[in-house]
Amino acid sequence: MTDAAPPPVMEFRSVGMCYSGRPRVVALDTCDLRIGRGEYVTMVGPSGSGKSTFLNIAGLLDTPTSGRYLLDGIDTGTVTRRQRAALRGTRIGFVFQAFHLLAHRTALENVELAMVYQGVPRRERRVRAEEALHRVGLGHRGDFLPTRLSGGERQRVAIARAVVTRPSLLLCDEPTGNLDSGTTTSVLGLLSELHDAGMTLVVVTHDARVAAQGRRTLTMLDGSLRDLSPMGTAR
Ligand code: ADP
Repeated sequence: MTDAAPPPVMEFRSVGMCYSGRPRVVALDTCDLRIGRGEYVTMVGPSGSGKSTFLNIAGLLDTPTSGRYLLDGIDTGTVTRRQRAALRGTRIGFVFQAFHLLAHRTALENVELAMVYQGVPRRERRVRAEEALHRVGLGHRGDFLPTRLSGGERQRVAIARAVVTRPSLLLCDEPTGNLDSGTTTSVLGLLSELHDAGMTLVVVTHDARVAAQGRRTLTMLDGSLRDLSPMGTAR
């Protein structure tokens, strides 16, 4: 008998999110989705269509009101709050439009801090943070505070911080939303390199150029997810 295939990195089984109140809002309608290891998925959709709701659930920041979400085969609805936080801290990396770096910490410290939750020893944190900054082309900027970095450099630090924990899934919310065209190109190059190295990426964007980078593009409309590509086509 052969070994069973590895589970998808993320799997939504009839996941829905409904906000009670008046009127009741169905922010995410029954959604079935599988994203395999190493996939590069982009998501587009108008404002208010449910993209943040999707990301918040995928990133374990919010729990769906119906359905099941499996992350690396783990049913996230059955774990304790503490275990959820641990899953979030160890298996998911986040990249946001506004970078969200700590202003009074250097680039290196910002990246190091991501590993505190995992209990990585101090010395190893330093080595891995330096490696991660090198990987994003900022090995020479470790001592800089974020205020001394350009927008593109800040986003590179944020990406280094997101991947230094070696997450299963990298979730990016408008990662180029604050960047000019040239810097967008370089950040897209970096995301492509991560994909080539085997990272699983989900990138939400308004930018058609960013969306085109995905090997699979999902469309969100009024809380409904459309996937025009073959389902579960991991590289
Ligand atoms: P997007 O990220 O695509 O702009 P959202 O996921 O933020 O869309 O929102 C989807 C829908 O859910 C919208 O109609 C929004 O108004 C609604 N919504 C989001 N958060 C809440 C909330 N906390 N309470 C009620 N409705 C919400």
